[in-house]
Amino acid sequence: MQFVDFKLDPRIQEAVAAVGYQTPTPIQLQAIPPVMEGKDVMGLAQTGTGKTAAFGLPLLHRLAQGGRGTVRAVVVAPTRELAEQINESLVALGKRTGLRSLTVYGGVNINTQTKRLKEGVDIVVACPGRLLDHVGQGTIDLSKVEMLVLDEADQMFDMGFLPDVRRILRVLPSQRQTLMFSATMPDDIKRLAHEILRRPVTVQV
Ligand code: AMP
Repeated sequence: MQFVDFKLDPRIQEAVAAVGYQTPTPIQLQAIPPVMEGKDVMGLAQTGTGKTAAFGLPLLHRLAQGGRGTVRAVVVAPTRELAEQINESLVALGKRTGLRSLTVYGGVNINTQTKRLKEGVDIVVACPGRLLDHVGQGTIDLSKVEMLVLDEADQMFDMGFLPDVRRILRVLPSQRQTLMFSATMPDDIKRLAHEILRRPVTVQV
């Protein structure tokens, strides 16, 4: 199976070629088809396996079909570094779609983020605490979110972010597609997956 077989939006297909990806990695082969079908996915994969594009490509494909300027996808990551890496991939792969993404994390000026949010953003790549700050201040509207990705869920648990993640879940529409990625599956992550994923397809590399 090749990238063309995923039937991604041509603008995204072109970006895949431009960044130099030639063949999909195993996690991409397994995860992209069910995500394209709108299914919830639990992905067991480490960093370095190509998991970012595994959720990023179908996410961009889905969003590219709709309107612009309201937050329709949220990616939650445990660290700023990971949030930046994810955002860089989304920017590169989504370059030709006109979709706008923004990283949202603490330690940097919140007003700059608020300004960007006001200008219109389609994808937010966030760490839990600062995302909740925006929710609390009413500076982010998550009512139109159709897709949620929790990346490195086990890390988020280890860092004590699960209560924050649960708070975020409570303000998201329940009608949405949810993807969860984790390198390991401890009981707490299994429980969370069971709570938030609907009839998920599990993929593992
Ligand atoms: P990730 O696991 O998402 O952090 O990706 C690890 C690295 O693999 C990143 O530098 C990606 O740009 C790269 N990568 C992802 N998918 C592919 C692919 N299909 N072919 C070649 N490189 C890839």
